[in-house]
Amino acid sequence: MKSHDASTPPSGSTIVNVNGLFKSYGAQQVLRNVDIQIRRGEVVVVIGPSGSGKSTFLRCCNGLETAEQGSIRICGADLLQDGKPLAEDALNALRKHVGMVFQSFNLFPHLSVLDNVAIGPRKIVGLPRDEAEKIALALLEKVGLAHKAAAMPASLSGGQKQRVAIARALAMQPEVMLFDEPTSALDPELVGEVLQVMQQLAAEGMTMIVVTHEMSFAREVADVLVVMEEGRIVESGPAAAIFEQPQHARTRILLQKLS
Ligand code: ADP
Ligand code: MG
Repeated sequence: MKSHDASTPPSGSTIVNVNGLFKSYGAQQVLRNVDIQIRRGEVVVVIGPSGSGKSTFLRCCNGLETAEQGSIRICGADLLQDGKPLAEDALNALRKHVGMVFQSFNLFPHLSVLDNVAIGPRKIVGLPRDEAEKIALALLEKVGLAHKAAAMPASLSGGQKQRVAIARALAMQPEVMLFDEPTSALDPELVGEVLQVMQQLAAEGMTMIVVTHEMSFAREVADVLVVMEEGRIVESGPAAAIFEQPQHARTRILLQKLS
């Protein structure tokens, strides 16, 4: 992403700074020179065809994958510097600042909803059980699921599972939230309840990177739109301007298809 143009006043300090990221799997180049700068409080929506590297980019941003070239600086810490990753303990510390929500929910099936949300604060932060549960309950309240605290994940709808997954990520008090197609696995009637929670988070000022095909969400919530194709960012900038006047052929195809 290039720096903001004059129509978009800077909202805060840079919290995510990715420069010259290259990543390959074997002979296949998946990220090619990806640059992105995100300010605190910004919502960045990433779109692009399947296989364009969107998930790989997000996974590099929380250290689930290591790029072989480039730098990633998040919340003032270097996740990757000249292609060299952080040591494991520093990486774990940084991951606390970066929450991630996946398409497939990934809840712990053997734990109650409350325990799913409380386990991070208990096991990773080291809070006593009652304190962790208090935080968890408040977050379940926030995503509209306090009444499901004692339920097991298997008894929930997909939309409810995803809202629990969001609460679980928030329980670590992240500074940045990454969402990888959080509504793609949901029945259409359940998409709205998840997007609504995300929209609320955005309104509260959370910094978010969201990979999604939900163009109505992008139109309403995105500050910045990033378009990927074959591992490259082919267009990026203020979302409103790109929706108004897409410059790249790929963007035009995506916006036509998705809107
Ligand atoms: P997107 O999320 O945009 O669909 P991905 O980042 O998942 O794209 O994948 C980009 C490319 O990298 C695809 O061609 C995919 O097959 C390949 N890829 C992703 N993860 C792996 C992996 N762990 N091993 C090998 N190839 C992978
Ligand atoms: Mg993906």
